[in-house]
Amino acid sequence: MAQRDHAPLPTPADFTPEQRAEEIALVRAAEEEARELLIHKQPGPALRTYFATVPRMAMACGEDSVEVATSWHGMAEGLICAEGKLPVAKDALREAFRIRHTLGKGSRLDAAMTRELYGMFHELMGDGQAAKEVRMLGAAKSEMRCGFYECPGGLFSSAQLKRCSGCGCIFYCSVECQKKSWPHHKQCCLIVKASLAAKSSA
Ligand SMILES: [Zn+2]
Ligand SMILES: [Zn+2]
Repeated sequence: MAQRDHAPLPTPADFTPEQRAEEIALVRAAEEEARELLIHKQPGPALRTYFATVPRMAMACGEDSVEVATSWHGMAEGLICAEGKLPVAKDALREAFRIRHTLGKGSRLDAAMTRELYGMFHELMGDGQAAKEVRMLGAAKSEMRCGFYECPGGLFSSAQLKRCSGCGCIFYCSVECQKKSWPHHKQCCLIVKASLAAKSSA
């Protein structure tokens, strides 16, 4: 059987700085559109876009680059906020976490944002213990995020944050942030509380 000739895929070394900058801008524009699709509850087309943009970013910048981590994080964030497609969100989160937290690439704030998003994911899955554990990874470094995802504050030490008294797996910098987060957290809080109660009575 005749072998099909495939052109080798480009690698970051094949891009000039100008070409790379242009590719990053194009990918980010496409990801903006995917984000809009998620907001309008069209996860299918949004996912198809992300599955095209992430490899493009990896070709231009490298698999372990901060740019790719931003793509993975954005994809996970969009999916989690749209509250669907959670298994796919997990894959995206794992990659963002690997690059930002494990490899320590990019800013400490970005790493903390990804840990917090991972916490939100575990909450949605009803796994309060895992949510707490991933959030606490930042505690040793005093690099935790407030559990209100849009909190304007930056990085916090665990002493600066207060635990949710309902589930104990999410941390807030202020009563205001806790109140703002409650409409989103409420359902998770009840699920986590119920699962903790079930575990302790088992
Ligand atoms: Zn806050
Ligand atoms: Zn709670």
